[in-house]
Amino acid sequence: MKKIQTVLGEISPEDLGITMPHIHIFNAHPRDPKDPTECLPDIEKNILELEYYRSAGGNSVVDGSPAQNVRILKKISEQSKVNIISTTGPSWRDETLLQKNINDVTNIFIKNIEKGVGDTDIKCGVLKSGASYNHITPLQERTFTVLAKAHLKTNAPIFIHTTIGTMGVEILEILKNEGVKLNRVMVGHIDRNPDLNYYKELAKMGAYLLFDQISKVKYWPVSLHINILKKLLEAGFQKQILFSLDFGHWTDLKAYGRGPGYTYILEKYLPRLRKEGIKEEIIEDIMINNPKTVLSI
Ligand SMILES: [Zn+2]
Repeated sequence: MKKIQTVLGEISPEDLGITMPHIHIFNAHPRDPKDPTECLPDIEKNILELEYYRSAGGNSVVDGSPAQNVRILKKISEQSKVNIISTTGPSWRDETLLQKNINDVTNIFIKNIEKGVGDTDIKCGVLKSGASYNHITPLQERTFTVLAKAHLKTNAPIFIHTTIGTMGVEILEILKNEGVKLNRVMVGHIDRNPDLNYYKELAKMGAYLLFDQISKVKYWPVSLHINILKKLLEAGFQKQILFSLDFGHWTDLKAYGRGPGYTYILEKYLPRLRKEGIKEEIIEDIMINNPKTVLSI
């Protein structure tokens, strides 16, 4: 029987509902000390933000931080009543991985999925790694080998962080050569590289196109992505599209007094798609059926 592995335990894929497959929920400290807004440090506000999401119709999210404190995620999930799926995987910046035994490293991520993170019984449900802008370092290549091995043992789906949307095809080729079926892979941040032919190439290889930069008009206008989306749908890729909101700054969230918040897709983007003629069954695939298929283990 297929299942979805949340921080509160297994649920049936039928209970997943409306899902964003890549967001950030809690982050105590800014990743870049020069940007003090790049954190989500207030647990109560993070709970409130997910409550807004639930009030707008949202049911589930994937937390995209692989070294996350899963006890905090559990608390946030219990209180917000939103299903949270946690992520695990090797850092693509930690060079010590090159010196380590690959099976030892892989076993850590298998344990995080099959038994629980650290001394907890809280299990992860997604594997993640990533590559640099327009190149893949030897370290990153090794992380993909680790992901592939952990995936083949656990069947957990793989999320790929691309930098400015680049190197998707090359990463998929590495995973394919390691034996991964590419319909278990989500290629993230691809909105940053709005190129229809590139999207078609990734989709033809079998992967999911994860548009997780929705609302970030500082990069591209919304209209540009909607036009590309329509062409992807015309080309028949409705079963391989996912939407999410990859916000890492507290200034992105309503609970911190800013916006647009985790309700943006449900309250603004989907109504606009409907107005532009996108059919309800397509929206249902993107928001419910596709996440259910890819996140089921
Ligand atoms: Zn992210």
